[in-house]
Amino acid sequence: MQVYLDNNATTMVDPKVVEAMLPYFSEIYGNPNSLHKFGTASHPALRNAINKMYSAIGASDADDIVFTSCATESNNWVFQSVWIDHIVNGDKNHIVTTEVEHPSVLATCKFLEEQGVKVTYLPVNSEGVVEAHTVKSFITEKTALVSVMWASNETGMIFPIKEIGAICKEKGVLFHTDGVQAVGKIPVNLSEVHVDFMSMSAHKFHGPKGIGALYIRNSQSLSPLMHGGAHMGGRRSGTLNVPYIVGMGKAIELATANMSEIMAKIRAKRDRLEDALLELSDTFVVGNRENRTPNTILISIRGVEGEGMLWDLNNGQIGASTGSACASEDLEANTVMLAIGADNELAHTGIRLSLSRFTTDAEVDYTISHFKNAVARLRNISSSFALQKPTAGGEVQECELHHH
Ligand SMILES: *Cc1c(COP(=O)(O)O)cnc(C)c1O
Repeated sequence: MQVYLDNNATTMVDPKVVEAMLPYFSEIYGNPNSLHKFGTASHPALRNAINKMYSAIGASDADDIVFTSCATESNNWVFQSVWIDHIVNGDKNHIVTTEVEHPSVLATCKFLEEQGVKVTYLPVNSEGVVEAHTVKSFITEKTALVSVMWASNETGMIFPIKEIGAICKEKGVLFHTDGVQAVGKIPVNLSEVHVDFMSMSAHKFHGPKGIGALYIRNSQSLSPLMHGGAHMGGRRSGTLNVPYIVGMGKAIELATANMSEIMAKIRAKRDRLEDALLELSDTFVVGNRENRTPNTILISIRGVEGEGMLWDLNNGQIGASTGSACASEDLEANTVMLAIGADNELAHTGIRLSLSRFTTDAEVDYTISHFKNAVARLRNISSSFALQKPTAGGEVQECELHHH
């Protein structure tokens, strides 16, 4: 048996999504900007996909949803354009975000810091959550943007976006949320939650990789990053990726149509897996279940180094993640786990398991049994394991393992 439990990294494309996309490669292939019938033939499908996106997130006609190449682009777009519009060409100089954002936000913030922008990185509390009052206390007259993710890719913890949105609205500060891990997993209704910009990515909800979107409230001004033809109303040039847009529309429809039913099933499997793994001694899971995306577990097992555990799981045909970045020279401690107060040893033991609607009960059973055996194996050798410094070559291997 092989078990894929890395759905927060990416998901399998639903065969129904592939089916919906196929005609738009070789049958209906015209450029939608062309005026002839080859071009206009794709218009109904594009409109349909956009409508599905609007209704899935509770957007109104006055809002914009612009397709991008990925959520990384959506995140970059917001930060870089807010910088140009409100800092370079305005009187602001400050951005508020969190320590636990996706690298596409954190690396963009580092770039902006090099350009002279002040960035505040807010910490999470012991539950792994950024609190709304913390956000409030760091907003100043000079703040151009607040950006807080809706749900964490590492822990699954859900952040108080409604409260933070209300604070930003009251203070008159632009508010962006990275909604990648929220859309398709928990209710996202932007008619009830004040958000100016929200990033989304199709491949996190069983759509194709390489297509994302940015929600823009009330057609808020945001200068383009991609200059060129007048695609997407001039907001994001580049010929529309018709099959992928169709795929994203189909995927968001499938993910949100019966979301509470689908998620209840995933949650039941997740909870069963979590309960079984917590029977092991000296383990803990980050964050309470109720306030977590229904598919995610970040579990820490004292004495079992995360990368070693990943290796053992991979040998058992189970794909998981450490949830920690391999960006640095050393095997990094999980920053989220350090933030919630784990000691340094424990912060190297995080294993992230993320399920999907395609995860079966048999796969959960298999994982429970393999995982428990792996912990026993690794704890047997853990004293020598913990002391061993990995070689440079070894690190590269570990990183490749966790990225794939
Ligand atoms: C995966 C992910 C991204 C990046 O999405 P891409 O479309 O792969 O660029 C951004 N933010 C979060 C929270 C993610 O999980």
